[in-house]
Amino acid sequence: MANGMDDRRKSLEEEYFHRKNQEAIEKLRAKMKVSEEAKAAGISSMKCPRCDGSLNESRFEDVTIDICDNCGGVWLDSGELEQLTQKEETGGWFGRLWRSEG
Ligand SMILES: [Zn+2]
Repeated sequence: MANGMDDRRKSLEEEYFHRKNQEAIEKLRAKMKVSEEAKAAGISSMKCPRCDGSLNESRFEDVTIDICDNCGGVWLDSGELEQLTQKEETGGWFGRLWRSEG
């Protein structure tokens, strides 16, 4: 009986996570669709992951960064962080940023 309960609970959990995954996939699909539509319309499609504000592309020391116009968050694409941290070795702003934090 106890095992039966565990199995039942387990299947409920699996169903829950399965549904959550489905929701996440649907959201992702919707977002990708919006992104494609926005791209087709020639406008920026980037949304802030934190607050859904619009991200404005900006260049900082040869690296393209995205700055949220709502919360001011700065977002980096894959590889951009590496570019910035590599600059640290040559005394870039990122290195100064870390040093000023400490
Ligand atoms: Zn934001």
